[in-house]
Amino acid sequence: MPPSSQYELVIEQLERLAKHGYQKLGLPTPLEDSFEKATAGQRAMRLWIEGLIAIALFNAFVIIDYFIRGGTAWFALEVRLCLITPIALIVNASMRWNPNKIYRETVIAVVSCGIGLTHLYLESNKSAASSAYAQVGLIVAVIFANVVMRLQFPYALVSSIVLMTGDFYFVYQDRFLQPPDKLLGIALAICAITMTVIANYSVNREERFAYLIRLRSDLQSRELSASNARLQRISNVDSLTGLANRHAYEMEFRRLWREAAAAKTPLSAIVIDIDHFKMVNDTRGHLYGDRVLVRVASLLVQGLRGKDDFAARFGGEEFVVLLPQATQEGAMIVAERIRKLVEVAGSPAMHESGDLPPLSTVSCGVASTWPADASNREDLIDAADRALYEAKRTGRNRVCLGEITAPSKKRPASHGWSGRHRAHTDSSTRVKVQ
Ligand code: GH3
Ligand code: MG
Ligand code: MG
Repeated sequence: MPPSSQYELVIEQLERLAKHGYQKLGLPTPLEDSFEKATAGQRAMRLWIEGLIAIALFNAFVIIDYFIRGGTAWFALEVRLCLITPIALIVNASMRWNPNKIYRETVIAVVSCGIGLTHLYLESNKSAASSAYAQVGLIVAVIFANVVMRLQFPYALVSSIVLMTGDFYFVYQDRFLQPPDKLLGIALAICAITMTVIANYSVNREERFAYLIRLRSDLQSRELSASNARLQRISNVDSLTGLANRHAYEMEFRRLWREAAAAKTPLSAIVIDIDHFKMVNDTRGHLYGDRVLVRVASLLVQGLRGKDDFAARFGGEEFVVLLPQATQEGAMIVAERIRKLVEVAGSPAMHESGDLPPLSTVSCGVASTWPADASNREDLIDAADRALYEAKRTGRNRVCLGEITAPSKKRPASHGWSGRHRAHTDSSTRVKVQ
């Protein structure tokens, strides 16, 4: 089976992202959407926690301001605690509601820029040392946005440009820094911002790569289970008649027996064999024989009571029917219906001549029991098998009922018909011809 188009798309994107150089990060729309869906919840939760840590660190500078600024610390405290912190806390809390991508990334970028620019505003123009440390503060804000929060790449790029522009502005109008210091500060900020943007690109690429690998293995295991289910179906079906095959019968028989034993309900079996089938093959050819088999199989299904009844091809021209919750009487009715259907419609027309085909008939052996844990499953089929033998012996095209009685008696040896389904012959069967 060819791989699905989604699988092909995933492989194509994996190969593209694995190439050297800087590839476009965005995936084709359906994949990008499913990437966002798969990662959004976890990302929002992570942003919330990291946001809280960042807000706490931002406010820790209140104490530092107190020590370095003394009396003028009040203004910084008001800006930090009364303006930036409430906004940052509200925005951060909104992450708990798993917002959509545009809102989530935009507000994180805006808050990161707000923190970085506020820091520049508060620390610049106080002294040469303070202005230099303001540059360091800006670099920390960029690391926070691009590496810790891992903004989506386009948002990281835009917020980096905003912070860089702000840095240019504050450094340009700073009264304490000398031109060489300004140049050094700007150069360091450019280096730091460029590196964090590169790191952000790599992290974003790795996240998409990891997602695509997970998706590929999900699709592979889904495909594998579908193939297994297909194989299972094929291995359970007889290819000529479409009925369940012997293997499926064994499993179903075990299941129905178990269920009947648990529910204390009867279980009946009909073993069916086409009469003189060798002669049909010999006189009309093997292909015609195959058509008879297909026809009988379909008539057999028509003769069943409902979906709980189970029919299988035992092998050759022999079939078995299992009837859960059917008593002897019910099973005899089903068997007789099948026999009659085949008698009336079991012979497909001949293609090549107008000759009437030989009449196809079946003989049926019926048996019923009340399964119990201690009883033997095979006794039921053995009884039906013996009844089938009796039907053959007494003229064919008939239904016989077999009864499971005391153990030990064996099936008669010379009968001119060879049943092949008996696992063992510990039970004897009393057979009534109907
Ligand atoms: P009886 O009435 O006693 O059952 O006689 P019979 O001829 O039906 O039984 P016998 O066991 O002698 O022959 C069964 C034949 O079924 C022989 C075999 O070639 C034929 N047969 C088995 N499987 C197939 C099949 O898949 N297609 C065809 N066309 N014939 C098959
Ligand atoms: Mg036969
Ligand atoms: Mg046979």
